[in-house]
Amino acid sequence: MSDQDFREVDPEDIFDLDAADDILDEVKKETKEENKDDKHTTEFCYICHRPEDMAGPLVRLAPGMSVCKDCLQRTFDSMGNFGFGGGDNSKSDMDMSKMPNISFLNLGSLFGEGPKIKNAHGPATAKEKEPKEAPAIDINNIIPPHKIKAMLDEYVVGQDYAKKVMSVAVYNHYKRVATGTMDDIEIEKSNMLMLGPTGSGKTYLVRTLARLLDVPLAITDATSLTEAGYIGDDIESVVSKLLAAAGNDVERCQQGIIFIDEIDKLAKKKNTNQRDVSGESVQQGMLKLLEGADVEVPVGASSKNAMVPTTTINTRNILFICGGAFPSMDEIIKARLNKHSSMGFMADLKDKYDEDRNILQKVTVEDLREFGMIPEFIGRLPIVFATEMLDEDMLVRILKEPKNAITKQYEKLLELDEVKLEFDDGALHAIARKALDKKLGARGLRSIIEEFMLDIMYEIPKDENIGQVIITEDYIEKKGGPKIMLRTTGLLPEKVAVN
Ligand code: ADP
Repeated sequence: MSDQDFREVDPEDIFDLDAADDILDEVKKETKEENKDDKHTTEFCYICHRPEDMAGPLVRLAPGMSVCKDCLQRTFDSMGNFGFGGGDNSKSDMDMSKMPNISFLNLGSLFGEGPKIKNAHGPATAKEKEPKEAPAIDINNIIPPHKIKAMLDEYVVGQDYAKKVMSVAVYNHYKRVATGTMDDIEIEKSNMLMLGPTGSGKTYLVRTLARLLDVPLAITDATSLTEAGYIGDDIESVVSKLLAAAGNDVERCQQGIIFIDEIDKLAKKKNTNQRDVSGESVQQGMLKLLEGADVEVPVGASSKNAMVPTTTINTRNILFICGGAFPSMDEIIKARLNKHSSMGFMADLKDKYDEDRNILQKVTVEDLREFGMIPEFIGRLPIVFATEMLDEDMLVRILKEPKNAITKQYEKLLELDEVKLEFDDGALHAIARKALDKKLGARGLRSIIEEFMLDIMYEIPKDENIGQVIITEDYIEKKGGPKIMLRTTGLLPEKVAVN
């Protein structure tokens, strides 16, 4: 750049816009003078006043009115932000990008540059929607059951039978949905009834499945449901929950999963003359939903009222899974089994089934009726199975094996502080035994581990020399501390008081 490219400006003039405009006009005039003889006259952008050699090729809108591509693009962008096409269409009432023959340009491509934005209808600066991650299992092209089970195996420990049954049911269900065979051959809907002790992973199985399939999931507690018109949630509220989970997308909602927990609480009450608005009547009320019916549900609200718009959801393709612990079911099953086995020469000992931890897996439709579920209801849940009661070894596996196991989460947390965390086998078994004592299944594991990890998470970051921590059985049993190693000197037991 030569000296004459610079012009002395009074510093005060810098803040005087009129003066700045005057200077600009002068520069323009001079440049024009300079180029008088020259055939090529420098043009300036009408908006930002930059000369063509700085701003790039200008677009001539009218005689004496040329605009650089940056300013033009900015103008289009701001139109997009006001709802004229592109950007977040959901926010705009008037989306011109959806109108035929109207589209907003990517000026980069006009000027021969590579495409700056992928979406020609959207502004360059607008945040493009993140490309949606492909679901692990595509429900429109569903993978065979053994592959679905293999995916579940990565997250859910044990429960092989439950995983197998669910994989087959889900496979059949979504195959039927995708091919629309429901109307040709009346294939029974694969609604499921899952029995199993608390904390054995019933909810977790359903959650994992819904996540892998990338379908919306609504979880409801049966105890909160009552017959329409009584205090509590209407039965249809489960569908509006699913619609909310589907982001108010009716089509997605109609392919979702509804999990109704604590279904055993709907059992018919014995020896009662009162109207049972939260038990048997709810079972009756759910029949239509389970089978497939058009339900009018409010959009964006949990209850219907005059002010809320409603939409119609067909539940025919919604997969219903009901779960429950069925606490006294083992007695019913035992009584039935004993009745059969105590007759004739082959009579067994009466306490033969007392030790059977997984007696729930022998459940039959008669047992469910005996428990208080009405036959029509059971008939609409054709797939009945039970999860296993978790034992010490399974709890230990749950602690360390799944992709998102609790111990792995803590290890990762301390890794951020550059500390290696380890749980020795004795410690894991001690934690599992404590969880068994609490009788909360795997649900108890987190609270136990959190209690012990609190001190570790508090103390360790204090001392930068600590390189490794080993959680021992003694620490869990409160007979000693964890093993702490320093980065340089190796083992240094009980130096750091963690108790
Ligand atoms: P349920 O619904 O049977 O009462 P949950 O599904 O709520 O029990 O289980 C509680 C927690 O225990 C889950 O969030 C999950 O982290 C863990 N869990 C239970 N069973 C398993 C399992 N088989 N594999 C891995 N984690 C499990």
